[in-house]
Amino acid sequence: MSDLWRLTGHEAHEGLRRREFTAVELTESVLTRVLEVEPQVHAYITVTADVALEQAREADAKYASGTATPLAGIPVAVKDLIVTKGVRTTAGSRILENFVPPYDSHVYEQLRRAGAVMVGKANMDEFAMGSSTEHSAFGPTSNPWDISLVPGGSSGGSAAAVAAGEALVALGSDTGGSIRQPAAFCGVVGLDPTYGRVSRFGIVAFGSSLDQVGPIGRDVEDVAVMLDCIAGHDPRDATSNPEPKPDFRNYLARGIEGMRIGVPKEYFVEGMEPGVRARIDESLRILEQDLGCTVDRELSLPSTEHALAVYYIIAPSEASANLARYDGVKYGFSDRTGNSMWQNMEDTRQGGFGVEVKRRIMLGTYALSAGYYDAYYVKAQKVRTLINREFQAAFERYDLIVTPTAPTVAFPIGAKLDDPYAMYLNDIYTIPASVAGLPAISVPCGESEGLPVGVQFIGNFWQEGKLLQAAYAFETAVGWANRVAEVGGSG
Ligand code: GLN
Repeated sequence: MSDLWRLTGHEAHEGLRRREFTAVELTESVLTRVLEVEPQVHAYITVTADVALEQAREADAKYASGTATPLAGIPVAVKDLIVTKGVRTTAGSRILENFVPPYDSHVYEQLRRAGAVMVGKANMDEFAMGSSTEHSAFGPTSNPWDISLVPGGSSGGSAAAVAAGEALVALGSDTGGSIRQPAAFCGVVGLDPTYGRVSRFGIVAFGSSLDQVGPIGRDVEDVAVMLDCIAGHDPRDATSNPEPKPDFRNYLARGIEGMRIGVPKEYFVEGMEPGVRARIDESLRILEQDLGCTVDRELSLPSTEHALAVYYIIAPSEASANLARYDGVKYGFSDRTGNSMWQNMEDTRQGGFGVEVKRRIMLGTYALSAGYYDAYYVKAQKVRTLINREFQAAFERYDLIVTPTAPTVAFPIGAKLDDPYAMYLNDIYTIPASVAGLPAISVPCGESEGLPVGVQFIGNFWQEGKLLQAAYAFETAVGWANRVAEVGGSG
């Protein structure tokens, strides 16, 4: 079999279990695919072929001894802010260009324990700040469906790798939409778990009250398998939920008849492309008529319009504190040409951070400074509470909330680069759930102008099971799942 890279993770696991091919063969197939399309896609900052082949050999031993679990031997792309012992971890930044971590993040430890195979460290916007992966210090990633377009961001490399067959599944991170929006742009499934569901131990921090790690896959089942692997309590992250986690895969085939779905009217405002709107209308029809849900389009979440402003105060404030550690003294890039410690620190940060990161640090420092703290930061926290309350009231009447994932399909590389506000607006539908700490998933729902469109399901706290259940039924009804982008007509 030559096109093993086309398989989903769960299909590959079945094939491995039945000894139709080995994990080494599967990994070689994916690495060949990487060689073939990476010049156009640039999904990775670092390809870890040697690590991958070694892990594949270990996985084959697990299959031979009958101890293989679902991710054994499955090629994974790992976003480059997920710390990996002995493998360079840059967070897309020049300031961490040569940072080789001395320890593993919790999520990578979990993947290793499961026998997964790391293909490489995926490209991303610097420190996860962006919606297009153009803010990577290592150059942009292209959308595998059309390489003149962005893949979304900040987990654009992770989503593009899965869409292009350069990995079967991936890990991304989501602070305000960074898993869901690139998943939508690349025609794959992406889940942002409840805040606290997945440990952030060993994740390069951006906005600590918002950051989450989550899975990306070509179908909902793969996302469930990945979540089962990475979720659960980890005492090394104080925000990690100590409750035992359910078996997420168990939810998939339950059907969703009778589920109550709310559609917030505030989300259907100007700025949404007509083609996206048509796909969302069609999705709601499928949920109601084909799958037997009740769909109420009169849900109102009036504070939604403030969510973007709240996010762009809280996230940069937290970022300005988190990024203070990059001083050129402890680790990473260091400019030592100046004649004083202060000068060296300034030069290191001046030369090590990109323009968007500096913009966020300045925004955050301003919002936290004496005299503005109450007017901006404290006010934003109060509005955050209002947003939470509105969601909680909604979940008394609905099981799930359904919205578009993004107002547009993938846009051209360069189109929004000089207009940060236009770039920020692309996250208008993903940010409210992030601000509230709620879980949300993006699932492909068809195409507009030949490009994938995603629909977002938002659930209440700890309801990832219900999200996956709905997403699985929806995916089956729509029939768009598990498509690989050919990239230049190969295969
Ligand atoms: N695009 C948003 C931002 O730039 C969200 C990024 C993210 O979720 N990491 O902050």
